[in-house]
Amino acid sequence: MPAKGIGARRKTLLLVTALVAAVLIAVSLAILLSLLLRSAPDNGNAGVEDKSNYRLPTDVKPVSYALTLAPFIYSNIRDDCYFTGSVSIAVEAVNDTDMLRLHSVRLEVPTVRVRNSTGGDVSVEKIEENVEKQWLTIKLGEPLRAGETYTVLIDRFKGKFVKNGKTGLYLSSSYSENSTEYYLVSSQLEPTHAREVFPCFDEPAMKAEFNVSLVRGREFTALSNMPIKSSSSVPGNTWFPNSAEPKAVIKDDFETTPTMSTYTLAFLVAKFQSISLTDSKGRVFTNWLPPELVQKSNFTLSLAAKAIGAFEELLNVTYKTNITKQAGVPLFHFAAMENWGLIIYQQNILVYDENTTTTKSKLSNALTVSHEIVHQWFGNLVTMKWWNEIWLNEAFSTFYSYLGLGLWGSESDLDSHFVVDQKYKHVMNRERKRNKVHPIQMDVSTPTEIDGLFDYIVYYKGGSVVRMMLNSIGARVFGAAVSSYIRKHSYSNAGSEDFYSSLNEQLRIHKQSLDAETVMSSWVKQVGYPLVTCSMENGSLLLRQQDIVSLSHKEKSNLTWSIPSLP
Ligand SMILES: [Zn+2]
Repeated sequence: MPAKGIGARRKTLLLVTALVAAVLIAVSLAILLSLLLRSAPDNGNAGVEDKSNYRLPTDVKPVSYALTLAPFIYSNIRDDCYFTGSVSIAVEAVNDTDMLRLHSVRLEVPTVRVRNSTGGDVSVEKIEENVEKQWLTIKLGEPLRAGETYTVLIDRFKGKFVKNGKTGLYLSSSYSENSTEYYLVSSQLEPTHAREVFPCFDEPAMKAEFNVSLVRGREFTALSNMPIKSSSSVPGNTWFPNSAEPKAVIKDDFETTPTMSTYTLAFLVAKFQSISLTDSKGRVFTNWLPPELVQKSNFTLSLAAKAIGAFEELLNVTYKTNITKQAGVPLFHFAAMENWGLIIYQQNILVYDENTTTTKSKLSNALTVSHEIVHQWFGNLVTMKWWNEIWLNEAFSTFYSYLGLGLWGSESDLDSHFVVDQKYKHVMNRERKRNKVHPIQMDVSTPTEIDGLFDYIVYYKGGSVVRMMLNSIGARVFGAAVSSYIRKHSYSNAGSEDFYSSLNEQLRIHKQSLDAETVMSSWVKQVGYPLVTCSMENGSLLLRQQDIVSLSHKEKSNLTWSIPSLP
């Protein structure tokens, strides 16, 4: 046996030597190749930006904005109208960097100045616009230093109102009290339209405080997320140097917002009137509408106040906004938008007339109010980190709008409405036909891809998954998890995994062994849904799941779903 041993050691030594030699040759070749490549002539691709990357760098983060917007809507000619403004953004450098990148779309930006914390200028070398990526890149002559704060000043930027536009800051017309037609300005910034209004860090996780000022004609009312702090009269030509009228305008300064995402900002300049009520906690609710409609909006005003109180109790998280405004505008892209403190609706949704409003419209309008109110928690207070997880806003708000209205509204059995609503049938049919199907949570990068997520799949299939989870583990456990998730991530951002972790925490407390991520992910990240069949075989109940989409197309599929109600 010793001979074999000696021979084996020799073979091992030979093998090691050969391996070392091979590694040395490979390393030498790699070094040679890399030297050759480095000295090769530029093939034109060096330094080309990644086409798929639409995200802003995270070397600087915004802390607060001081934003003034001055819409010029004082002409009868639509094309003469425009808006101008100034923004000062306090930023903190996270890493050393000699580049600042913001979002900006279709805005004329004449100058950008950057100042350090002692007021000294940081030299700006170049300002570049990338139309496709919607970026404004500021190349600096000296680096910003990590940990230091700076101010980015952009004075007198200017934007045009896009014809038939319904995003960013846009123009529509209405009638004043004396029935004269006039132009009004309203806004819709979700998901990526704040950048059409002012240069900003327009990503949901780049939260900041906002000090908004709006410049308006004397006969107009200006509304934004927060209440007005002070108003002052300024000469019209301060903001509109090329126009003789208006001679004087009012600048309304609004209180500082909570820390929030750009997409929940809102601006409205119109000749609206209001009705108000105060709840038992002293919080004020106001509806703003054209004069002829405002008195017909008592139903939706009291509904909003009731909804705030009820959701506050249901979610066990205090609502801290003292003045909540709802405004109804004549032209709006969606049914409504949950902007923090200033929810904007299509005006007919806020109006209830017992002689003309159908029962169906009354319920659907009440659900819309309920949906927007609960967004104040799901979306405004806790925001998804990125748009791929918009279901954390929309699926929850869709399901909770029914759950909430069922608790405090006069309509009964809202849960049955949820199940039989035609929107759910639409989603199920769409998935079976593979008509524009996608998972509830999917990667998105470009503004067009992000827009594509605001559909029935995210809202209604997503809402159904939330409902399934609640019914499987019980309202008490689910409610405690939701409450803990909101409390933990208030004024900040969260991802799906944060919600699963809150759910698992409560499941463990209540001695349930289910894993939230395993269950939810199979529904949230996969297209389609299963067909579950039950049969009795040899005296036992047999449950079987099949991928219904593949089944419909007579295809094989290995997809399975984790169905929590089943063992
Ligand atoms: Zn919504």
